Amino acid sequence: MLALLGGTFDPFHLGHLYLATAATKHFNGAVTIIPNATTPHRNAALASWQHRLAMCQLAVLDFPQIRVVAEETPQHSGRTIDTLISLRQQYPTTPLSLIIGSDVYRNFGSWQQPSEILKQAHLIVVTRPETTTLATFPWGKIVTDKTALAHGAGGVYVWQCAPPAISATHCRAVIAGGGSIEHLVPEKVAAYIRQHGLYRSS
Ligand code: ATP
Repeated sequence: MLALLGGTFDPFHLGHLYLATAATKHFNGAVTIIPNATTPHRNAALASWQHRLAMCQLAVLDFPQIRVVAEETPQHSGRTIDTLISLRQQYPTTPLSLIIGSDVYRNFGSWQQPSEILKQAHLIVVTRPETTTLATFPWGKIVTDKTALAHGAGGVYVWQCAPPAISATHCRAVIAGGGSIEHLVPEKVAAYIRQHGLYRSS
């Protein structure tokens, strides 16, 4: 199974790193990070795609099982279904799973072609502190055994992995307020943000 963690990563923070490293252990496989290009149906990013890609790459340098792919370039459609179809060509027989936070799962119905996405991949839903309980699971079929992710697509596995309650929104606010983010983002990401003066209020 190949686990995919897509996101804006504006910036990549320790919550993302926790998710990716814990996923390599829990699902016993590789994790692919896919920084999104900004599109009309996604929140606008403050940092450019190139900066966000660079921060992801720096963050996972010491983690051989985690790789970053530059699939969703600014020229990409921004549709997850297109990314999955492209990955399907590269990995014709490998089951794919999208790791998403419960906040993102809640809005899954507003993604383009959610039913098609579920024909290509499973969803691994990670509970976040602000949306701990999910009343209903309208998309996909709940699977409680993670080994079900090794076959097919369309399952929804709820993963209680207790990531740190960090958000990129909070990281950006701390930097804009002149605070330190050393405890919120990987060291190399903090250095990159400093070097490029990202997220500072003008
Ligand atoms: P923002 O605050 O700008 O919305 P974010 O912190 O949610 O950003 P994203 O890049 O949007 O970061 O997140 C990518 C994916 O990782 C999403 O599916 C999101 O739900 C999940 N995620 C991010 N941070 C955490 C966290 N601390 N715990 C669990 N899931 C997380």
